[in-house]
Amino acid sequence: MSITAYHRDPAEALVAAQQAVNRLDALWSRTRPGSDVTRLNAAAGAEPVEVDPDTAALLEKANAAALESEMAFDPVLAPVMDAWGFGATESETTAVHRVPDQAELEKLLSLTRDLPVLDGDTVSLPIAGQAVDLGAIAKGAAAADVVEVLTAHGVDSAVIALGGNITALGTRPDGSPFRVYVRDPQGGGEDYLCMMSLPAGRTCSTSGGYERYFEANGQTYHHIVDPETGYPAQSGLRSVTVVAEDPALADAWSTALYVLGAEEALTRWESGEGTVAGMDLILVTEEDHVYVTQGLEEGLEPLGEEAGYTYEIVRR
Ligand code: ADP
Ligand code: MG
Repeated sequence: MSITAYHRDPAEALVAAQQAVNRLDALWSRTRPGSDVTRLNAAAGAEPVEVDPDTAALLEKANAAALESEMAFDPVLAPVMDAWGFGATESETTAVHRVPDQAELEKLLSLTRDLPVLDGDTVSLPIAGQAVDLGAIAKGAAAADVVEVLTAHGVDSAVIALGGNITALGTRPDGSPFRVYVRDPQGGGEDYLCMMSLPAGRTCSTSGGYERYFEANGQTYHHIVDPETGYPAQSGLRSVTVVAEDPALADAWSTALYVLGAEEALTRWESGEGTVAGMDLILVTEEDHVYVTQGLEEGLEPLGEEAGYTYEIVRR
């Protein structure tokens, strides 16, 4: 977590923001004992669990994204993630990665897709062995809380970075929009695909197969899984960046669109209807083509032309 606030005395606001994130981590972590998610998963197939209203609200948002994405975003994919070693481990250094066999995957896939059932703040997982994993939406949702806390402390200019999500609270102190670098998915963390303006109040979220992966039998396996196959998504994309007003949705949909692929993402955007149509996108294909939707044209600075990327502004 990295929060930069422009304010004459930001210390108190920053401490409060950190506390807000810690509170949500204690609710949504899959590894912390007693978290809402831990309790919910332990009670799967057995009994409903009372959760914090913030957890219920997030699960509702996750369920909606799951349905609208036709389950490309699946908040109950945890058993499958665990089988690959991308699950509830403390850190990447302690993770044990392996390629699960087909029979095992099929068994685990039968635990996915049945979404958590909500009744107010009471939640249940229908099938024993099911588990919620909010890894693809929780960081975004936390950013929304940080914005609220900072605003309440009088901060009107800040950048909030939680994992691959960056939220602009207001503009830079001089009134110009914050500028964000988007990584070159093939650059090993060193090179940049582009620089772009992040308008006030917007979040950009990037999902890519290059972020977490392991190699086995000469193959690369990454941490965004296609719920249809149980295998790392192979949609022809190297990365997806989503710019949206709601940080949780930016997070969830960057993951969902990475699974769905460029064609489906652009079809949804061009249709002018639904959640994706209200967002802006940067899609990087395996052919090194970069689609940028028109809302990001102003302030876009391509930086990967020498590395072989071609850029195209998509309009509707
Ligand atoms: P990151 O967390 O690396 O920024 P994402 O936001 O794309 O990237 O989230 C990836 C995480 O989401 C994975 O580590 C896993 O916990 C979870 N996940 C992977 N595939 C899916 C999926 N299809 N639907 C929902 N969650 C997923
Ligand atoms: Mg995400």
